[in-house]
Amino acid sequence: MYSRPERCPNPECQHHGNAPLGFFWHKGSYRTKHDRLDVPRYQCKGCKTTFSSRHGSPIAGQHKPQINEPLAKLLSSGVAQRRAAIVLGINKVTAARKFAWLDERARLAHVAALASYVQFDEMETFEHSKLKPLSISLAVRA
Ligand SMILES: [Zn+2]
Repeated sequence: MYSRPERCPNPECQHHGNAPLGFFWHKGSYRTKHDRLDVPRYQCKGCKTTFSSRHGSPIAGQHKPQINEPLAKLLSSGVAQRRAAIVLGINKVTAARKFAWLDERARLAHVAALASYVQFDEMETFEHSKLKPLSISLAVRA
């Protein structure tokens, strides 16, 4: 289920960019709170940094990632945070923290979507005579 690490997460390490095969040792494991799975931990042979295969995952450290999607649907449908917490059976503080996390994820997705913008242009002309005006709209992607 969990993949082997491809590089060291430490940006100052020699194995961060181009890691050789077997640059890490196995260093125990931990059990996730939400699905009770054992996640293996590793230690880099170069810088001795410990990390897990879930390092860098957007849900790393979350205890209830299974409620992210239903909570997002409820909150984007106009349901209040307190009501969404009652519906999902979670604490209102959890709903507020998840709302902040979902806000940050949506903000990042919006910035990524804005990276490729579209420019609109319009042209007025006529067909056959000036009494038959024609408007042409164009959308140009950079
Ligand atoms: Zn390292």
